[in-house]
Amino acid sequence: MALENLYREVILDHYRSPRNQAPLGVADASADGVNPLCGDEITVELHFDGEVVDAVSVRGQGCSISQSSASMMSEAIKGKDRAEIEGLVSKFKAMLDIEHGHDTGLDPERPGAVLGDLEALSGVRQYPVRIKCANLAWTTLMEALGS
Ligand code: ZN
Repeated sequence: MALENLYREVILDHYRSPRNQAPLGVADASADGVNPLCGDEITVELHFDGEVVDAVSVRGQGCSISQSSASMMSEAIKGKDRAEIEGLVSKFKAMLDIEHGHDTGLDPERPGAVLGDLEALSGVRQYPVRIKCANLAWTTLMEALGS
């Protein structure tokens, strides 16, 4: 399967079956994010066990890019502490070419290779409007973390 088709499959799978949507009974941190350009909305809730995120809820509505990015993010941050999450956000932004000149040690030919399912979003770097969709969940996550 061509990489592009594989990416599309991953995005549609997360869009159709979003992970970690159930609201947390008790959240240690939360934030709401909106991308008015596209009408995307995301709510992020986090629960910590010590320093580590042990439960995540991500809910929202909007386009397939914004919602699948949120679903993939919810999978990617579980079990990570704040420093690890910040490292992940930095790599994700570098993959989308948001953080120019930031040395993340990523393969310039395939910067998403270390990001698992999230690599499926690497194609949006060619579409500045869609970058805002893909980035919404991550901006909202950082807001919830107070970073
Ligand atoms: Zn969107």
